[in-house]
Amino acid sequence: MKITAIEAVPFAIPYRKPLRFASGEVHVAEHVLVRVVTSDGVVGVAEAPPRPFTYGETQDGIVAVIDKIFAPAIVGLTLLEREVVTARLNRTIGNPTAKSAIDMAIWDALGRTLGLRVPELLGGFTDHMRVSHMLGFDDPATMVAEAEKMRDTYGITTFKVKVGRRPIGLDTAVVRALRERFGDEIDLYVDGNRGWTASESARAMKQMSDLGLLFAEELCPADDVLARRWLVGQLDVPFIADESVPTPADVTRESLAGAMTAVSIKTARTGFTTSRRVHHLAEGLGLEVVMGNQIDGQIGTACALAFGSAFPSTSRNAGELSNFLDMSDDLLAEPLEIRDGRLHTSPHAGIGIEIDPDKLAHYRTDRS
Ligand SMILES: [Mg+2]
Repeated sequence: MKITAIEAVPFAIPYRKPLRFASGEVHVAEHVLVRVVTSDGVVGVAEAPPRPFTYGETQDGIVAVIDKIFAPAIVGLTLLEREVVTARLNRTIGNPTAKSAIDMAIWDALGRTLGLRVPELLGGFTDHMRVSHMLGFDDPATMVAEAEKMRDTYGITTFKVKVGRRPIGLDTAVVRALRERFGDEIDLYVDGNRGWTASESARAMKQMSDLGLLFAEELCPADDVLARRWLVGQLDVPFIADESVPTPADVTRESLAGAMTAVSIKTARTGFTTSRRVHHLAEGLGLEVVMGNQIDGQIGTACALAFGSAFPSTSRNAGELSNFLDMSDDLLAEPLEIRDGRLHTSPHAGIGIEIDPDKLAHYRTDRS
């Protein structure tokens, strides 16, 4: 069970169409595959998605920090020393997706070594999650058509609408068009990625007060300290904090300050080990939980599903598990399949995914 190598392999897979939201846009999935190799010949895998506009990480930076700092600090430890691994990773500031991919690849290797599934090692609550689909910026008709396609093809009936544009009427018109088209058939919530001010957010939420939203997420920046408390205090739906709370300490601070009432858990930024801490904290503080998406590929989605299915509160709300549908291809030998609006966890040990060697050879960018 000794860790003998940690490899960081950069790869690039184009999206079918760019995904646009208030803090940025993505055209190509330039992610990093992380492999943890053990003395038993087991290989655990996970992926790190660089999000420079959210965490400041880049693909080159993730590869460098793993090769130069994290791998030398961790090689030689066993798969059971996960808290030692976490402590050593946390000596370095930042780099959340690089740390998380290492953590999840270690859990994957542990599951494979023991012949046990990671969802069960984590908590084993259920074997599936309902899927929520994220609708990126476009005009109302196009976004309604996209929702229709997702419902008809995959049975998805929960949608998160990206908002935060100006004028605010552009976004509220989209949400209204979705509600008018689908009525009570669908659940809707909105994510502003800090695009609006607190007063714009308050006005927009008033305009949408008859549309039965489930949640409002990160409408304005947490750094607008008093304005955000003012906003959260007047909303009649839970306010999800996402990129403003990348660590358990941030969740505590923002919750106690009244600047959030729900939390987005993203395994891409807190792995399994720290996501467990955030989950327990949410339980203690009484926060609702949504499993979020860091525009993950199928590997990252399988990780979010493994964690989300492990506990009651993480599987209660639909999880954001469908962004991989926008990618033109992926690295998995057996693609994930959304059916009846749900994703089921893999029956295989570990996270339960296998990398297709031919696809990896085709998409990796470190060998020409
Ligand atoms: Mg978000």
